Amino acid sequence: MVEYEGVIGLEIHAELLTKSKMFCGCEVVDSTTAPPNTHTCPVCTAMPGVLPVVNRQAVEFGIMVGLALNCEIAPFNIFARKSYFYPDLPKGYQISQYEYPLALNGWVEIEANGGVRRIGIRRAHLEEDTGKSTHMGGYSLLDFNRAGVPLLEIVTEPDLHTAEEAEAFARKLRSILVYLGVNSGDMSKGVLRMEPNVSVRPKGSAELRTRTEVKNLNSIRAVRLAIDYEIERQVEVWESGGRVEQVNMGWDEARGKTVVQRSKESADDYRYFPEPDLPPLVIERAWVDAARAKLPELPDAKRARFMSQMGLNAYDAGVLVADRAVADFFEQTTGAGMEPKAAANWITGEVFRLMNKAGVEREDIGKIALTPAALAKLAGLVEKGAINANTARDVLGVLFDEGGDPEAIVKARGWGQVSDTAALAEAVDKVLAANPDAVRDYLGGKETIAKWLMGQVMREMRGKGNPQIALELLSARLEALKNGRF
Ligand code: ADP
Ligand code: MG
Ligand code: ZN
Repeated sequence: MVEYEGVIGLEIHAELLTKSKMFCGCEVVDSTTAPPNTHTCPVCTAMPGVLPVVNRQAVEFGIMVGLALNCEIAPFNIFARKSYFYPDLPKGYQISQYEYPLALNGWVEIEANGGVRRIGIRRAHLEEDTGKSTHMGGYSLLDFNRAGVPLLEIVTEPDLHTAEEAEAFARKLRSILVYLGVNSGDMSKGVLRMEPNVSVRPKGSAELRTRTEVKNLNSIRAVRLAIDYEIERQVEVWESGGRVEQVNMGWDEARGKTVVQRSKESADDYRYFPEPDLPPLVIERAWVDAARAKLPELPDAKRARFMSQMGLNAYDAGVLVADRAVADFFEQTTGAGMEPKAAANWITGEVFRLMNKAGVEREDIGKIALTPAALAKLAGLVEKGAINANTARDVLGVLFDEGGDPEAIVKARGWGQVSDTAALAEAVDKVLAANPDAVRDYLGGKETIAKWLMGQVMREMRGKGNPQIALELLSARLEALKNGRF
């Protein structure tokens, strides 16, 4: 059997977080919560005789995304009418860009199979979102709050070959959009949607076979599953002597399979032509330079800095920069005096564990009760020996649940570490006296049992004993017993 490889290009639709819509003054609202049709006007509901006006902020956000994706920003843009009929598209066409898009020929780097791969960005263009239909019984309900919300469509080259690569790309792109502040990244709300185009070919060949397009995926997980499914399905079609049809498909989450929606429309079907109600959009270099100056530090650059400046390894740095909120939390923690490696360990270890348990998304780390300052202070308490690492974990649990000041929590609960030698020595003696068998085994050569005895001492101290001092005392006592000095 021939070995096949996947060929995948992604189309990404990202709503832009502007205050108003793309071509009118209506406010952009959360279309999953706002009461339906409360943010509409004659323009976005397509009343006769209205005229669109381009949203300057949306163009600027588009330029910023283009620059972040290493694209050329076209000095000359033309808006085009893309005609198709859907009840949620009141004009009967969408204003988009076709032959003269905003951004072209960029790239994004992803990590795949232990190496770095550059994925080409074919173009990014501005358009407007449609409204939303909800089908109920025999009716379709329409909400036009979303109609006319600025949308940036980003199209990659077919440079991806596996579902894992597509996932890595999707995560990277989402993270860039969130860093730029142009999109919340919340795919479950539909503000960021992805459409994989998938074909397969014999491995090593350069041909491009017929592709299918899986529309409107609302999670990165669905992107991965749908691609895996399509690759497997198409290989079977070719292998059994059939032909893959060019179709649009949907992803059936419940059944875990792609389903054909309709045969694919071609550019001719859309009857593109220049939008007569809008003049060409000319973007001067000065505007591009100004937009470039507004770019924040992006994930790749931040990761490189966390490695070079803070001494983190590639893995930890990568985990921390994946979500801007996590990177910010980390930097606020080190800014409050915590040593970077310790901060990285605590955040990616214990803090993430508590967040997972509580069902808090990484991007919401800024909303948890534990503050970066409290985490830094907690680390300080461990460092100066006021509490041991075990207690620190308990204090962290309290901080996570209730917030507050670590020192006050330790004081209020009597969790301070006992470094008092007399108290620790007493605990050691008590444990040795209570466990003569273990002591005999130890003296008989089973030295590993010292570890168990140490555990008993810590238990005797209710976990609050200073482990270094306790270990020193225990070792000294055992050594003395071995040498016959009682
Ligand atoms: P359309 O807008 O009609 O969907 P495009 O030419 O803009 O068509 O391509 C859409 C996406 O499909 C791009 O991401 C591109 O990389 C990808 N693509 C094109 N040809 C193939 C193919 N044979 N296999 C997989 N992906 C493809
Ligand atoms: Mg397409
Ligand atoms: Zn409007």
